Amino acid sequence: MPSDVLMSLSSKTDDTEFYSNFPKKYLRGKTKYIVITGSVISGVGKGTFSSSIGNLLKLLHGFRVAPVKFDGYLNCDAGTLNPFRHGEVFVLEDGTECDLDLGTYERMMNENFTRDNYLTSGKIFKMIIDKERSGKYLGRDVQFIPHVTGEIKGFLRRLAVKSEADIVLVEVGGTIGDLENSYFLEAMRELAYEEGRENVCFINVTYVLRPGSLGEHKSKASQLGIKSLMSMGIQPDIIICRSETPISKKIKEKISIFSNVPVSRVVNSTDVKNIYNIPLFLNDVGIDNELLKILNLESKSDGSRDFEKWKELVRKIDDSRREITIGIAGKYTNVQDSYLSILKAVEHTAPYHNVTPRIKWIETTDIENGKLKVENAMKDVNGLIVPGGFGLRGAEGKISCVKYARENRIPYLGLCFGFQMAVIEFARNVCGIKSATSSEFCNDRESVVCILPEQEEIEELGGTMRLGGLELLVKEKTLAHRLYDRTRIKERFRHRYNVNTKYIDILEKKGMVFSGFAPKKRIMQILELPDHPFFIATQFHPELNSKPLEPNPVFMGFLGACAVS
Ligand code: GLN
Repeated sequence: MPSDVLMSLSSKTDDTEFYSNFPKKYLRGKTKYIVITGSVISGVGKGTFSSSIGNLLKLLHGFRVAPVKFDGYLNCDAGTLNPFRHGEVFVLEDGTECDLDLGTYERMMNENFTRDNYLTSGKIFKMIIDKERSGKYLGRDVQFIPHVTGEIKGFLRRLAVKSEADIVLVEVGGTIGDLENSYFLEAMRELAYEEGRENVCFINVTYVLRPGSLGEHKSKASQLGIKSLMSMGIQPDIIICRSETPISKKIKEKISIFSNVPVSRVVNSTDVKNIYNIPLFLNDVGIDNELLKILNLESKSDGSRDFEKWKELVRKIDDSRREITIGIAGKYTNVQDSYLSILKAVEHTAPYHNVTPRIKWIETTDIENGKLKVENAMKDVNGLIVPGGFGLRGAEGKISCVKYARENRIPYLGLCFGFQMAVIEFARNVCGIKSATSSEFCNDRESVVCILPEQEEIEELGGTMRLGGLELLVKEKTLAHRLYDRTRIKERFRHRYNVNTKYIDILEKKGMVFSGFAPKKRIMQILELPDHPFFIATQFHPELNSKPLEPNPVFMGFLGACAVS
């Protein structure tokens, strides 16, 4: 870095125009940064590429990599977002409710992340306004540049220090040209200026259009997108061109000449069926080596055993032939992103049993209004999942599906809401409590599921549920114990309701076994039916910590049972 930049940054005068808060112990150049942006359209798989790069750099090259997802919206986190509009709300171990991309990072990089890996505009502005109110800006007018951009850089640098990362991998949500991520891109330009160009690498993922009427690829939209990135002072180092079918060399050359990026660093990635292949693909085309060259890094790989395991899994996914059908009973089931982690858990666990899963979406509101008969919905499934959910709509349809699975000995996995539906079904149809329900739906019937005492007084919505990774005890000689092979486990929660303690004895007397519970409070967290081939439900969300290299035991058990049913 030029020494005058260094001097200005460390200037201690009160009226400096720089606002570059370097945390204690921060060493410039120790951590490298990779910044990934998108052009032309959103939804081209930036998250998939970023996390695949993270996978390669960690599993194959042995680096410590800390990813960050930046989302431009003004929500502080994803807690209040509607999953049917924005996709599933992912929950981290520390209780952070965030974008589903963080789940992709955890799965692809086989690691758990925290609130330090997730940043939204809302979170930055809240922090700045709180700081301003407590006088921390020392009388200055607080500005987008240098303060907002300075706080963003500060966030990344704090992460670099705390995680001791070799590489911080920043994914900028949205598309170049969006108003809401423009100051974030400006912060990335400043980052490259302050850290030194050899310490920051920019990757742009662009979408190359192929209008049906022309039948050939057109690079103009990509050129313009990349130009607009360059006009913000950011020179990409690598361009990933996404397209449905392969693009020609000519198109690559055009993009290269307009963007100053050598053709060898313009990579084409076409649609793939199995996203676990992408790290292998990126390695084949040599992106990892280009990155190491650009950032002046040397691979730390010591034989890359983890990457071999990854390759083995990819092979298994491609080989697993026998198809099994998993029913997922939910509402608005056409929005697959709202159940992403469940789909991923099924997808990466099935190959361990040499089967290929086919998902059958069961729309439970159709069962309720008589459009769909439960026996038709369920007749060809090898197993049923009732996922998490909120509210009455579709609940009775879910309860009918659980009843069918229990009576017809179909493997069942209930997740959170699906746990509560299993309790209501059993109370009604086995214990004879005909008006059994949840107080989430109504208060004047028998609430076998009721609000958690600690939740009763809470009025705010964001971040107020019982959230994050919590310990639970597992009863010996149960299915849960066979699956986990441990008596103390940690799983991730996101709920307000639980089994009403008044009904626990009745349920147990009739044969329901609560095999997992909170260590100190009387909160039931795993239930099972011993005289059924496989019937288990969890108040937590096992899909949230299931990873391709380490599938969650509950999903392992469930898919094993489906494979033989
Ligand atoms: N609505 C239920 C509760 O709050 C279930 C929540 C969920 O499935 N995540 O307890």
